[in-house]
Amino acid sequence: MSTSSQRPASMTPDQLFAIDSLLSEEEKEVRGTVRAMMDKHVLPDVAQWYEDGQLPARELARTLGEVGLLGMHLQGYGCAGTSATAYGLACLELEAADSGIRSLVSVQGSLAMFAIHAFGSEAHKEQWLPRMATGEAIGCFGLTEPDHGSDPAGMRTTARRDGSDWVLNGTKMWITNGSISDVAVVWARTEEGIRGFVVPTDTPGFSAPEIERKMSLRASVTSELVLRDVRLPAEAMLPQARGLSGPLRCLNEARFGIVFGALGSARTCLLTALEYAGTREQFDRPIAGFQLTQAKFADMTLEYGKGVLLALHLGRRKDAGGLAHQQVSLGKLNNVRESLEIARTCRTILGASGISAEYPVMRHANNLESVLTYEGTSEMHALVIGQALTGIAAFR
Ligand code: FAD
Repeated sequence: MSTSSQRPASMTPDQLFAIDSLLSEEEKEVRGTVRAMMDKHVLPDVAQWYEDGQLPARELARTLGEVGLLGMHLQGYGCAGTSATAYGLACLELEAADSGIRSLVSVQGSLAMFAIHAFGSEAHKEQWLPRMATGEAIGCFGLTEPDHGSDPAGMRTTARRDGSDWVLNGTKMWITNGSISDVAVVWARTEEGIRGFVVPTDTPGFSAPEIERKMSLRASVTSELVLRDVRLPAEAMLPQARGLSGPLRCLNEARFGIVFGALGSARTCLLTALEYAGTREQFDRPIAGFQLTQAKFADMTLEYGKGVLLALHLGRRKDAGGLAHQQVSLGKLNNVRESLEIARTCRTILGASGISAEYPVMRHANNLESVLTYEGTSEMHALVIGQALTGIAAFR
């Protein structure tokens, strides 16, 4: 670990864990492509987008689509068809820039496109997936309602038959990409249970007012979906999804991306704090030289590295076809919780500068508050793990 220069050698957290030794050439290439893309198209502006609460989502979606990032782990219909692990690594690089960018990609690929790919008719797939893969069309996924978040089984949005048509009424809440979407996958209660519907957003009666005043995920579009007598043809229903298991399978896909993604935020915070601590001097020496600071870096690096190892393990399990949803809960709970803790600790290392938008740390910490809550709150994932261990469901 020594170098010829005067300065002691330093390693990144990834080097310390020898993460590259666990990746294939293809995976490293995907990682490098996404990282370069973020450097060019996102990092120069993302702090300003965050401050303004604006995201040039349409333009960005096309750029992301050009390199095959939208629905990248899906097969056919213009999708790249990569491994799940490569998709996870892409999510990590996207979220290293901002959780809002990863959310755009997760919702497009893992929620909206996955729902159509897994449960849609051939006509749905042909109509929407190729355009969504290029970013020409944007999708959203409407499950959460104002009164039903963690417990979507109680949803009030209804789809009632009228002749051969369906008529949808209800309100969805906190919907990523809502107001910029061309198509919404909406889950609604029917006489035969919960079913999914493919709703073109120009259908009369559909509106998507944007949710303002967010203090987190500001570089991401979040909206309500209001459905007032939205009339759809019989074919609008997703034929292969029956009951809550449909949306829950989609959520499991998106959570898998978060298992990797959250670590991207953690990595950016860690690298920022390491650089800052190396140059910031107090009491006549760099603050990186104080034992208390080094203990923070050691603990954070351990949690970050363990998180990456867990994510890669789950990625390999998914690629081998053997990933249980409880295992995704292990990853989501641990990696988001620890990444948030890392972001907060890095904030302390930057002192007052840590609260400034000059540095990305507070932005990531604020974003991770949303990531802790969406795609199943940390409490819900703890209950999933608790049920797996005890056999007892403690949800109600
Ligand atoms: P609640 O369910 O009301 O929970 C509040 C608190 O109570 C939480 O701490 C929760 O863990 C706890 N709690 C609830 N039940 C229990 C229990 N049984 N035991 C212990 N604790 C419990 N949804 C979509 O459908 N599509 C999207 O695209 C989407 N994007 C989002 C984007 C953002 C930025 C955010 C913040 C949310 C988004 N969501 C989306 C919604 C998200 O999935 C919900 O916020 C989440 O499921 C939690 O629901 P809730 O906010 O209603 O909280």
